[in-house]
Amino acid sequence: MFQLPMSLILKTVRHLIKNSRKMRCDKCSTYKPPRAHHCRVCRRCVLRMDHHCLWINNCVGYWNYKAFFMLVLYATLGCLYSTVMIIYCASYKDLEYSGSGGLKVFYVMSGLMMASLSIMLGTLLGWHVYLIIHNMTTIEYYEGIRASWLARKSGQSYRHPYNLSFYKNIISVLGPNMPKWLWPTAVSHLKDGLIFPTPRDNS
Ligand SMILES: [Zn+2]
Ligand SMILES: [Zn+2]
Repeated sequence: MFQLPMSLILKTVRHLIKNSRKMRCDKCSTYKPPRAHHCRVCRRCVLRMDHHCLWINNCVGYWNYKAFFMLVLYATLGCLYSTVMIIYCASYKDLEYSGSGGLKVFYVMSGLMMASLSIMLGTLLGWHVYLIIHNMTTIEYYEGIRASWLARKSGQSYRHPYNLSFYKNIISVLGPNMPKWLWPTAVSHLKDGLIFPTPRDNS
């Protein structure tokens, strides 16, 4: 009868143990799907985890990423609108209250605050637009930097495994219905968050 060499059996067992550890959360002691991460603050695994947001006091993951993105988008637009309105009011000479010293300080302070907020939120918005068009999370971006470095060291190249195409990446987050892209609760395209398509699936 044909027998496998002991070294090959041990190697296979080690490989299986290593892979099963990867798919298991040490803290929750349960199955951890691909792209899920354990959040220390929430004390649970979060599907397609992006980051734990202090501002909304919650994790941003598979189920609420679109709502979070909409929050950043509309907050940025709101801040830009407020900045423009403050600048417009401050420069409008005909208004009788525009000459008061205290109000001038108020305009300058408000204008600076809104301009700073617009820049900060605009940067955050730009960052998440970048992540969406590459089908990446913030965690995966930093993991990708390390993976690229390791791949370069061994003479290979690294490509993010879930980067499908520009349009497919967008619809995986915002949904296939374009008129509902800016509607935060239109998330019927979300499935179970356990399996994600990769470019290999089509080849
Ligand atoms: Zn966990
Ligand atoms: Zn969390």
